[in-house]
Amino acid sequence: MQHKPVKAVVFDLDGTLYLSGRPYPGAVDTVKRVAERVPVYYLSNNTSKSPVFYENRLHVMGLPLRDDSIISALYLSLDAIHEKGIKNVFFFANPEVYEWFAAQDPSLNLNPSVEETELVLVAYHNSFDYRELCELSFRVQRGIPFWVTHTDFVCPDANGPVPDIGSFMALLKTAYGVEPERSFGKPNPAMLAGVLKHYAPEEILFVGDRLYTDFELAKRAGCRFVLPLCGETKREDVDKLDVKPECIVEYVRDIDFDAFLK
Ligand SMILES: [Mg+2]
Repeated sequence: MQHKPVKAVVFDLDGTLYLSGRPYPGAVDTVKRVAERVPVYYLSNNTSKSPVFYENRLHVMGLPLRDDSIISALYLSLDAIHEKGIKNVFFFANPEVYEWFAAQDPSLNLNPSVEETELVLVAYHNSFDYRELCELSFRVQRGIPFWVTHTDFVCPDANGPVPDIGSFMALLKTAYGVEPERSFGKPNPAMLAGVLKHYAPEEILFVGDRLYTDFELAKRAGCRFVLPLCGETKREDVDKLDVKPECIVEYVRDIDFDAFLK
């Protein structure tokens, strides 16, 4: 099949460009070369850090950035809160993310009492203590609407995958039988809305290491997709798929971008 040239490239971060903040071999130079030709975006489901943190991290690594390069489920969550006109949101998040979120809209009350709480929003909080988990529990068990930024079961780590929001959801389902009403992150194609304003789906190349989030998003959005095997997915996982990624590589540096961008 003859494809149109790709006009924008979206990279996943953890497991695609780096692991635990350490870039994979050749990843930074490859992204720099791509960014000289087309706009590059970074799309992570990881809401344990704010977009500002990611801007700093990627800048320090030497990855090219524009104002709209970082795509985060935190922006979509905030938009949805605004659309609903909700003010009292119990926000379960790391302190840095909590502060970033509060600064985006100082009119939000992010630590309402149980009675005041209109909505519970769960980000990937990886520094909570049991008391905070109880505060979350007191709210969801009452049937207060409950949203999550994303539903990944685990997050990659150099020592092995660690529990992410999907695992927290299983905990709350076991305890109270509750499930979130909404999730914003991949594979929700709304994550690409900002990029799709400028480009047709088939002009966007998505590069990500996870099948149930990255590949699924690309399929739902109608984007082209490359799977690097340096992260979560193993070749035998791909063998089991009916619909396979267009291109599979070991590392991002192995992608023939000339073939996609010409
Ligand atoms: Mg990943």
